Amino acid sequence: MPIIGDTELVPLIDALGRIVAEDVISPLDVPGHTNSAVDGYALRGTDLPESGERHLEVVGAVLAGSFHEGVVDEGTAVRIMTGAALPDGADTVIMLEQTKLDGDAVVIGAGHRQGQNVRQAGEDLRRGDTAVKAGTRIMPAELGVLASFGQDRVGVIRRPRVACFSTGDELRSPGTSRDPGAVFDSNRYTLFGMLTRIGMDVIDMGVVSDNREALRCTLEEAAQRADAIITSGGVSAGDADYVKETLEELGRVGFWKIAIRPGRPLAFGLIGNAAFFGLPGNPVAVMVTFYQFVRPALCQMMGERDPRPTPELTATCVSKLRKKKGRVEYYRAVLERQEKGGLVVRSTGRTGSGLLHTMSDANCFIVLHDEDESIEPGAQVNVQPFFGLV
Ligand code: AMP
Ligand code: MG
Repeated sequence: MPIIGDTELVPLIDALGRIVAEDVISPLDVPGHTNSAVDGYALRGTDLPESGERHLEVVGAVLAGSFHEGVVDEGTAVRIMTGAALPDGADTVIMLEQTKLDGDAVVIGAGHRQGQNVRQAGEDLRRGDTAVKAGTRIMPAELGVLASFGQDRVGVIRRPRVACFSTGDELRSPGTSRDPGAVFDSNRYTLFGMLTRIGMDVIDMGVVSDNREALRCTLEEAAQRADAIITSGGVSAGDADYVKETLEELGRVGFWKIAIRPGRPLAFGLIGNAAFFGLPGNPVAVMVTFYQFVRPALCQMMGERDPRPTPELTATCVSKLRKKKGRVEYYRAVLERQEKGGLVVRSTGRTGSGLLHTMSDANCFIVLHDEDESIEPGAQVNVQPFFGLV
């Protein structure tokens, strides 16, 4: 696999989904000052009564963003709002709701603890800490973390350029009319969606007919322009399936055909410096092979080192699933939590690899492994959810 080494500096607001090029070190403590976690009164912990009540003279007030100049001496307190810097001398804050006023004094009861409701400077990040590791995909939390120490730009890996085209004489692009025997090209659209969501720069090369010469020309052009090439269709062993032989001619075949369903005729190789993925034509097979093989390969190509792998779950399957030993099978399914606790998963039903709408109905794959055979309702199965929370 070619690895993208080029980096670029982008404004933070444009960095969502990009991969961080180098460790980002915090140049500051976050928070920058010790501050109050609540609205209340800042005081010395040594003034807290062990029993009964204690009156402390209120000597000032401090709001978030301002400073109290003086020192909180023994027997005094400062009214303080959430986020405001703790005045010198104070080390403890009592919540407003747990106090009462008596003239110029605040009355504090027993049961408090020295140091409570105080956020220490640098307790989120210390100056010099690695805030975001190289290879991390920038998610909403990382955007906020980078902003929390004032950074407004970040160095990221260049988006890989991925050239895509569909093959098949029967294919028509949406927006044109469908003559008898023709099929609208849906694969280029699902691929565009899947690639865009992982931050690829998609080069749409349209539809190529089942013709050796046309295929060769398009692949050569794609290899010049892109870091990776993805095709769909024409990769089986049918009469008009020229993808695999053209790959052999122009480059190198890494593998062809894998023991999965759907998606068996997947081809992988190299053309020049570009990685090549020849996906099957059937629309569900395109999505399955993309998620199981292409996506992880492209993420690795763009330098992603995800410390937060998507978990596979175990759920009770309420459907009967037919399965042959000796291959991995992916079933489109709906995962939900039963009212009384456990996770259950049911197949969306029909399993034809041309039934793209079942992908839209589903929210997960059930994965039955190599050695598994058909299962009866009630079996525990592995599930790959489609979407995480963030
Ligand atoms: P193939 O692998 O080229 O034999 O295609 C397998 C099946 O997928 C055929 O029924 C094709 O018509 C269909 N197919 C191939 N490419 C596409 C596409 N881009 N969009 C929708 N269906 C397709
Ligand atoms: Mg075809």
